[in-house]
Amino acid sequence: MHNITGIKNFEFNKETCFICGRYAESREHLFPKWLQHRFNLWDEKLIIPNKTAISYRQLIVPCCKKCNGEVFGQLEKVIASGTESESDIWRWANKLHFGLTLKDKFFDWDRKNPGYKIGDIISSSDPLEQSRHFLHAVSGDFKCNPDPFGSVFRFDFKKEQEYNFIHIINSSSICISLGNRGYVIFVRDGQFLKECEGVMDDYKELQSKDSEMVDMLFFYAKNIEYLERFTITNPVIITKGQIIKLGRATIREERPENKELLAEICKHFGFTWVEK
Ligand SMILES: [Zn+2]
Repeated sequence: MHNITGIKNFEFNKETCFICGRYAESREHLFPKWLQHRFNLWDEKLIIPNKTAISYRQLIVPCCKKCNGEVFGQLEKVIASGTESESDIWRWANKLHFGLTLKDKFFDWDRKNPGYKIGDIISSSDPLEQSRHFLHAVSGDFKCNPDPFGSVFRFDFKKEQEYNFIHIINSSSICISLGNRGYVIFVRDGQFLKECEGVMDDYKELQSKDSEMVDMLFFYAKNIEYLERFTITNPVIITKGQIIKLGRATIREERPENKELLAEICKHFGFTWVEK
C-alpha cells in the first residue's frame, strides 16, 4: 500500500486501535455513552446494510488510550455540551462513518449464507482506506483545507426532535438529530454541495422556517439523489499531514434528475414523497 501520508497500515483486529493501530487497551462504544444515555439508545437497534438490526450497545470497537482520551474524549465533551463547530461535528461524523464502515468488513452480508461480508458487497475500490486518512484529520497531526473538508448542514429546531441516525456508505454521509439540533454531513465531498447554489438556496429557505425532522430528512434525501447525478473529480492532494483541495470540483458527467431514486430514498427514510 502507498504510504506517502505516513499513516501506518495495519491489520484490523480485536487487539488494535481502530484509529491508529496501536495496542488497544479498551473497548469503546462507537456511539458514545453520553449519546446513548441522553437518547436512551442502549437497547435501540440500528439497521445495518444487510437489513439486520444491531443494538447500539453492541457497536463496540477496540481503541487505545491516546485516541480515546486525548483525541476523541475532548471532541465528545464539546459535542455533548452542544458547543461544537462545523469542524467538530465533521470530525465526529468521520469517526462514525469510518467505524460503521469498518464494522461492515466483519458482518456477513447474508447471515444464512456466510462468505461475503457487507463490505465486500458495498465498497467498490477501497473507500475505507480513504476514510481512514480522513479520520486522521481528527487527531490534529493532520490539517485539511477546507476545514471541515466536507459539507456540513446544521438545522436548529424550535421544538425538540426525536433522536434519529442515518448512515449512507455510498455517499459517505450521515444524518443525525441531537434533540434541539440536527446535522446532515457529507464527510468527503470537498464541500462540493456547499458550492452548489441550488443546494444553498434550498438550505437557506429551510433555515428561515420552522424546520422539523422531516424537512431535514427530505433535504438529506435530495442531496443524496443530487450527488448520484454527477461524476465529480475533486482535485485533492493527500500528503503527510494534509488533505488539501485544489480549486473547485470538476463535473465529468451529469445525468438527469432521478425522481424514482429520490422517492426510494424518502421511503427508506420513513416518509413518502409525492411530486407536486
Ligand atoms: Zn489509537
